[in-house]
Amino acid sequence: MAKIQRQVQMLFDLNKCIGCHTCTMACKTMWTDRNEGQMYQYWNNVETMPGLGYPRNWEESGATIGTCQPKNDDEAALTPLPDIEGDYGAPWEYNYGEVLKTEGGNASRSVVVPFPSPDGPDAYASNWDEDVGVGAFPNNYYFYLPRICNHCSDPPCVSACPRRSVYKREEDGVVLIDQDRCRGYRFCVQGCPYKKIYFNPVTGKSEKCIFCYPRIEQGEGNFCVTQCVGRIRWVSYRDNKASNLYKLVNNWRVALRLHPEFGTEPNTFYIPPMSPPGYLANGDLDSKGRIPVSVLARMFGDNCNQTLAQREARIEEIFDILETERAKGMDSELVRILVATTDTEQVQLT
Ligand code: SF4
Ligand code: SF4
Repeated sequence: MAKIQRQVQMLFDLNKCIGCHTCTMACKTMWTDRNEGQMYQYWNNVETMPGLGYPRNWEESGATIGTCQPKNDDEAALTPLPDIEGDYGAPWEYNYGEVLKTEGGNASRSVVVPFPSPDGPDAYASNWDEDVGVGAFPNNYYFYLPRICNHCSDPPCVSACPRRSVYKREEDGVVLIDQDRCRGYRFCVQGCPYKKIYFNPVTGKSEKCIFCYPRIEQGEGNFCVTQCVGRIRWVSYRDNKASNLYKLVNNWRVALRLHPEFGTEPNTFYIPPMSPPGYLANGDLDSKGRIPVSVLARMFGDNCNQTLAQREARIEEIFDILETERAKGMDSELVRILVATTDTEQVQLT
């Protein structure tokens, strides 16, 4: 793989995501509107966690904590291929025709539902378990996890492709698939433990997030960044030390990688979500947050060598920093960065 001159990165503050899916719709509108097979294109998606994710059980595709995934060029790095019908689920439309457009106004149904509705014990689809979460009232919880391709520094999807269709751009580290070269073999899907390459059965090719490279080249932010209702995303280059993204990752050290044990060196970062206190059996408030730190530590860490205990300690450390700085209000640089109100605070592509 050619030497990368610069590397774009994205950071998500999970304390601010409201699960509105505006980012997904922005991406679809910008890049895949009216394309054939649009229903299979989830270059950006937002999952409810803990949950099965999309495709189903993608988190089980990679290495376990403490054992880094084999490096690329190693066949052992290939991971299972999700099933189109079972793990992604057949796309559906909503029955708007039935409800809204029946001639004469005699709609046979008055409720909008998925149509044809997936059913059966193995039924699944994107956001199938949205807002379900885990636990029992009053200690139930969930949080949202927006995901794009991580434009990894050591991307196994690149080496997995026998046609060299998948490549990493030298100028900015964006990972792309040459649609003219792709033959839909799906080795790249097997190579990616995050399952952020999608095979499109309509076009017969594999596709993925392009990190809005035509916008990046103009210094404009990714559309999912600028359209995000919660302003949870920051984008910059790894070497831009003046950027807010750099400060959050390297100076304040409040952001972690998603499943770093997969060993791909992802270039996306997440500020883990804090949560309100849970309730003890006697009805008193617990001193701990409702989301167990162990749950977060299974997902987030600094690098692929950390143990689960080290990851838990880092998350506790991050929560301490956030709490301390929150108490200072807008006197804190960290708070001022996190309470971003303009695109220029979040998009710093120089
Ligand atoms: S997230 Fe997956 S598709 Fe994206 S660069 Fe990494 S390995 Fe490749
Ligand atoms: S647009 Fe922003 S707040 Fe809404 S789901 Fe996407 S990342 Fe979360």
